[in-house]
Amino acid sequence: MTAVPTHCPYCALQCATTLHPVARPGAVEVRPRGTGGLCRKGWTAAEVLTVPDRLTTPLMRDSQGDLVPVSWDEALDFVAERILELQAAHGPDVVSVFGGGGLTNEKAYALGKFARVALRTANVDYNGRFCMSSAAAATNRAFGIDRGLPFPLADLEGADAVLLVGSNIADTMPPAVSHLQRAQVLVVDPRRSATAALDGALHLQATPGTDLALVLALTHVVLQEGLADTEYLAERVDDADALYRSTSAWWPERAERVTGVPAATIRQAARVLAAAAPVHGGAGAFILTGRGAEQHSKGTDTVTACINLALALGLPGRLGSGYGCITGQGNGQGGREHGQKADQLPGYRSIADPAARAHVAAVWGVDPADLPGPGKSAVELINSLGTAGGPRAMLVHGSNLLVSAPNLASVRERLAALDLLVVADVVPSETALIADVVFPVTQWAEEDGTMTSLEGRVLRRKAAVAPPGEVRSDLHVFAGLAERLGCTAAFPTDPEEVFEELRLASAGGKADYSGITWDRLDREELFWPVPAVDHPGTPRLFADRFGTPDGRAHVVAVDHRPVADDLNGAAPMYLVTGRLLQHYQSGAQTRRVPELAEAEPEVFAEIHPRVAAQLGIADGRPVRLQTARGSMVLTARVTTDVRPDTVFVPFHYGGAGAVNELTNDVLDPVSRMPEFKACAVSLSAAALP
Ligand code: SF4
Repeated sequence: MTAVPTHCPYCALQCATTLHPVARPGAVEVRPRGTGGLCRKGWTAAEVLTVPDRLTTPLMRDSQGDLVPVSWDEALDFVAERILELQAAHGPDVVSVFGGGGLTNEKAYALGKFARVALRTANVDYNGRFCMSSAAAATNRAFGIDRGLPFPLADLEGADAVLLVGSNIADTMPPAVSHLQRAQVLVVDPRRSATAALDGALHLQATPGTDLALVLALTHVVLQEGLADTEYLAERVDDADALYRSTSAWWPERAERVTGVPAATIRQAARVLAAAAPVHGGAGAFILTGRGAEQHSKGTDTVTACINLALALGLPGRLGSGYGCITGQGNGQGGREHGQKADQLPGYRSIADPAARAHVAAVWGVDPADLPGPGKSAVELINSLGTAGGPRAMLVHGSNLLVSAPNLASVRERLAALDLLVVADVVPSETALIADVVFPVTQWAEEDGTMTSLEGRVLRRKAAVAPPGEVRSDLHVFAGLAERLGCTAAFPTDPEEVFEELRLASAGGKADYSGITWDRLDREELFWPVPAVDHPGTPRLFADRFGTPDGRAHVVAVDHRPVADDLNGAAPMYLVTGRLLQHYQSGAQTRRVPELAEAEPEVFAEIHPRVAAQLGIADGRPVRLQTARGSMVLTARVTTDVRPDTVFVPFHYGGAGAVNELTNDVLDPVSRMPEFKACAVSLSAAALP
């Protein structure tokens, strides 16, 4: 093996790496490539290739209830037979598919096609619904297009100010902080995160669930102090009056009572942002949202308020300024473009659009009338499993639901009610361990494909080592099952062949990949849309027009509303969940990397010293958290980084350490995003379990 250029397997920054040969079979050494660095997760990513409990052969449950090794043919035959039996008895929608935002574009595309063509089911969705769906919904309704960052991340380097709402990039994607050296950084977060603690950052430590009120107040100050870009609003924005209507009642003193952020700080932040805007001679300003703003029952409206503020300042579409969403999962962007979402077809097309159905059906060689959908969103799909008329089988690819889904007691109950649970994964995740059948599949350094970064930059993932044992790609699972189900449509197992089909299916869509070839990706950086092979790609969107039918951005009037889970005497504090530097998502990979596991081995709860003193909880001692959905005992970390009304718990841990036992699965009415980021909780000192 010679050195292979590829990208980190984890987050949406997709840092460039080179994999170098080492003596051990299946192992590589990771080094950074180009000028960017790597975080600790990226440096140690090679460890995941050779973890001792790597899945290397298909597994099926035997008569004793144990998962035992079987051949691929046995496993595929069994799954196909069960699907045919269930569908004969109950119809096609009895089978469901759950995808993941870490799958390559090729796998995500093949998964959506497999669900709709081979299984003929409407019941397909993925874990991106837990991730950035509120930002996607808000940007689609404001700009007509959802690309996380509609500009290269490096554009941040020239800005005078960057407002981060609910995003902790210093922990989640540390190399991105290098782009913030020049800007005044403003951070909205109920916790003093590593990002809020950056040198010179202005921290607006809002009460959980009040970001929307805070952003309305920032916009109020901009409008009331005559700082808006009125020329831009007149030329490029529809219904700018809605900006005034929706923010007029949010003067800073009122917002202070709701958010806890001093009115003077709100005014200061608004003025810093406005001074950075080009309309006032500034070098540029960016407003960026993360999961902290988005994972709420009002997440779409909170992102909309951020977009409205950006529009008031004339930022979107202007060189060196803009609004963007910091997508989390490795292929969080590409994963939502190619059809594994309940309401979408490849090319970021709506499944409800007759023209989109006709285009994709022609590529797939099926009748548009036979394309099922739209289906249920992730939580609604999970809640329907095993119920009357609901799915009785689920195939899970690249997702660890028993850690990452909200209200886990309910998820466990629904998964247990299935007649067939199939999981394709790399390691025996918490979800794989309860499956009826487990398929061992390839991971990053063992496979070719493409990923799309948070900026819409399409990147080549390259195989550097042969997969161990009987491991095969998810593409083999789709092909093997489709054949056994009697489906005559093509399900290639060569990822480049899948990509060639994806190009055709995406042609003319919002996320148009038709001009991208793997050869081009070896030579140049390409940001979608790329509508022709001689098209240079589109690093920056919206310079002349937005993606709406009239080319103008749309203001949507929004207002603050409380967290769905009411605080009360029995549960008087907010529970907030989030990420750590050392771990990635459900932790299925990073908890198996010794260096990362040793650095953050177990779940903990950050508690303010005043609360700890009131309840008699010492640092390092056990504390019980209780919500309407469940309770757990974990170790207290007493710190002034959290507000006295807030408890912070990282969500990377499984089993007794899974904080999603406590979180609320109430949904945002637009994006169907669950409210991971705020629910009512009580605390008490506990004995060690
Ligand atoms: Fe990997 Fe993200 Fe870390 Fe870069 S920042 S090395 S992509 S985990």
